[in-house]
Amino acid sequence: MSGFETVIGLEVHIELQTESKMFCSCPNRFGDPPNTNICPVCLGLPGALPRPNSAGIDAAIRMALALGCTVATRSKFDRKNYFYPDLPKGYQISQLDEPIGAGGRVEVPGGGEVRILRVQLEEDAGKLQHEAQGAVVDFNRAGVPLLEIVSAPDLRSPQEARAYWEEIRRIALALGISDARMEEGSVRADANISLRPIGSQELNPRVEIKNMNSFRFLERALAYEAERQAEVYRQGGRIEQETRGWDDPRGVTFSQRSKEEAEDYRYFPEPDLLPFAIDPGHVEEMRSALPELPRQRRQRLLGLGLQEEQVRLVAESRGRTAFFDQATGGGADAGEVAKWICGDLSRLENDGRFDFDRPAFSAGELGELVRSVRKGDLTGPAAKQVLALLAERGGTVQEAVRELGIGRIDDLDAVRAEVRAVLAQETKAVADLKAGKQQVMGFLVGQVMRRTRGRVAPDVASRLIAEEVGR
Ligand code: ZN
Ligand code: MN
Repeated sequence: MSGFETVIGLEVHIELQTESKMFCSCPNRFGDPPNTNICPVCLGLPGALPRPNSAGIDAAIRMALALGCTVATRSKFDRKNYFYPDLPKGYQISQLDEPIGAGGRVEVPGGGEVRILRVQLEEDAGKLQHEAQGAVVDFNRAGVPLLEIVSAPDLRSPQEARAYWEEIRRIALALGISDARMEEGSVRADANISLRPIGSQELNPRVEIKNMNSFRFLERALAYEAERQAEVYRQGGRIEQETRGWDDPRGVTFSQRSKEEAEDYRYFPEPDLLPFAIDPGHVEEMRSALPELPRQRRQRLLGLGLQEEQVRLVAESRGRTAFFDQATGGGADAGEVAKWICGDLSRLENDGRFDFDRPAFSAGELGELVRSVRKGDLTGPAAKQVLALLAERGGTVQEAVRELGIGRIDDLDAVRAEVRAVLAQETKAVADLKAGKQQVMGFLVGQVMRRTRGRVAPDVASRLIAEEVGR
């Protein structure tokens, strides 16, 4: 793609986790039997009147604040008209020219700064399902509050676009305004992408890729599309503004329709809802009550001396950071705690045997574990076993140590007995060590560990082996 710069903007849609839907009192719940959470309002039956859910508005304001936007003092809803089978009303209540927030910015981890054009509130559509006998539609999702976050076309690569989207999702999770479950479609993105000659400030016609619900799809679709557009330009062709879909199995984008403009939607102010005022005092209250945001988290953790990769892993979710904070709260060493979180506990989580959001044991026990290792009460290998048991069954370090019988063997005579037993068996290694092959020391220490199930400090084992062998 030499010679071209990739220009990407993202519209991220996030379903808000409110009790009820945006304009009616139906439950906002995923996974219920189809068409059970519906009423005349979210079905758009004649005469039904919407009423805005203030929890949805507050969530939008908090997101706008977290993104550094200016929050409007007056906002309104608009009607966006279009026909789609999962849109029972034939229109969507959205926002056009008076969104809740505008003019923010976000720093993309590993990327640049991205301007946020607007944060607006709207309602989700229902869901079409294609089944053997034809398409069926579930309106449970119709009217679920949806936040739309529109970025300026400031993203310069598919990787940066993905990192931006991940960051927006992390912010939503930190705010607790969405469960942000990708697999349930709680977070979706539309991306627009165009190319231009490097150095140019013009924007060429863009292609929009709609409704992606996977970070990987987004990155792949954008990479494909950038390459496709470059090829069109190299052949002397033109890119027309259009909407394209992503076919992941085939790894290609395909044309869906030529792009509609705003006027195609015949926007007009929603006649059933009055413009509303947002009290600046209320906004300032919410601003001062914002939780620590992912970027602040990362800066704080860097300040504690964690390495970049550790920072990334510990700051990844609110649950991880909270676990880290509680574990270090009693004075345990931050770097050591981070090592366990990024190592053993992350591995256990990947295997589905631990969950930072619902930990089976108190984070204070990880602090206790780190202190026990530092004091020499537990060896490193024994600590691993303790942690695995805690993850499996909960409880305390003390209980786990007792149950496993792996408190450190402190009695030197006892350790020496174990060392002698190993040396008596490993005659070849002993001969090698006597001959000056220092590298077998590691093997012998390992055998002592195995024999004692990690209850001996490795440095003590190696010192005693050296004494016994006379090296
Ligand atoms: Zn309803
Ligand atoms: Mn939208």
